[in-house]
Amino acid sequence: MAYLQLRGVEKFFGRHRAIKGIDLTINKGEFIVFVGPSGCGKSTLLRLIAGLEGIDGGTLELDGRDITDLPSSKRDLAMVFQSYALYPHMSVYENMSFALKLAKVDPAVIREKVQRAATTLNLTGYLERTPKELSGGQRQRVAIGRAIVRAPKVFLFDEPLSNLDAALRGQTRVEIAKLHRELGATTIYVTHDQVEAMTLADRVVVLRDGLIEQVGTPLELYDRPANQFVAQFIGTPQMNVVPAGQLPPQMRQQGPQSAADGAIGLRPEAVSVLPKGQGSVSGRIELVEALGAETLLYVRTAEGAQLVARQSERTQLQAGDDVSLNVATDQAHWFDSAGRVVQA
Ligand code: ATP
Repeated sequence: MAYLQLRGVEKFFGRHRAIKGIDLTINKGEFIVFVGPSGCGKSTLLRLIAGLEGIDGGTLELDGRDITDLPSSKRDLAMVFQSYALYPHMSVYENMSFALKLAKVDPAVIREKVQRAATTLNLTGYLERTPKELSGGQRQRVAIGRAIVRAPKVFLFDEPLSNLDAALRGQTRVEIAKLHRELGATTIYVTHDQVEAMTLADRVVVLRDGLIEQVGTPLELYDRPANQFVAQFIGTPQMNVVPAGQLPPQMRQQGPQSAADGAIGLRPEAVSVLPKGQGSVSGRIELVEALGAETLLYVRTAEGAQLVARQSERTQLQAGDDVSLNVATDQAHWFDSAGRVVQA
């Protein structure tokens, strides 16, 4: 069921066309993540939805109502920023209750809503503190709590975890996922971190240069990327993309004719490293990364291609060792010279 509908949305900054006519349908209760490289327009698109920037073309519809020209405060959306944007001189309780107080909600109702949000977010012991007496993760939870108490139609998150250290980012990410499962609120979340995108999203919107490259579930994007850009943007380590010219002839022949001057894409788990002479491609180890649960082996092939292989077993192999590679060509993605996927 279409809940938030974007039609031909455009944004110019001076003569720079930052958003180039975006169509997107978001369903009620969905968790949508906007990802893409720096400058692709993900924050701008979120700000247009929020009403923090004026739209230069197209329309926005929320729950059957045209909100294109509605001021931000009338859109019934709540935004959580990377910078938290808490009121420094107010307590946590006051920060969380502020919007409801402005809306003249009954004090008893406010108290109940703030208490409930504080319980959900593990903030009950901190309600009397001011923001500066909190850790970064706690501040971010207050910012989320402030959004929750308003029970908006849509939650908008702009890189909410990027000021947190890696461990806290992981924990808070899990909390946001749980929160979404509990509240089932329609959410749009901007990040450049594709692990966040993959773990949080019902559907991911991959943006590039003001346009949508692909929309899909995380696994659709991983397994069936529409083009080389999406293929290399989703997945860590990045998908190996080897120019067809650097492939051994017998492998090149397995690909479609239209990829003859294109490339092959192989996920690191589609490449396995074998003792010298046992695989179809010969190469030399350049680097081994033992990560505990998995091992990454960086190999340069005799044809000059660089590949990373992922294996769950540990290895005795070291940089400088000569090896062979086996490539699961049935898992390969073939790209034409323009980077479009072509079928084998
Ligand atoms: P990042 O991940 O670096 O935050 P982003 O994908 O969120 O990037 P936006 O901030 O949406 O990108 O910016 C999209 C484009 O619009 C960029 O080229 C940026 O320089 C430009 N832009 C954004 N805001 C403004 C502004 N207020 N004035 C002029 N140009 C802007």
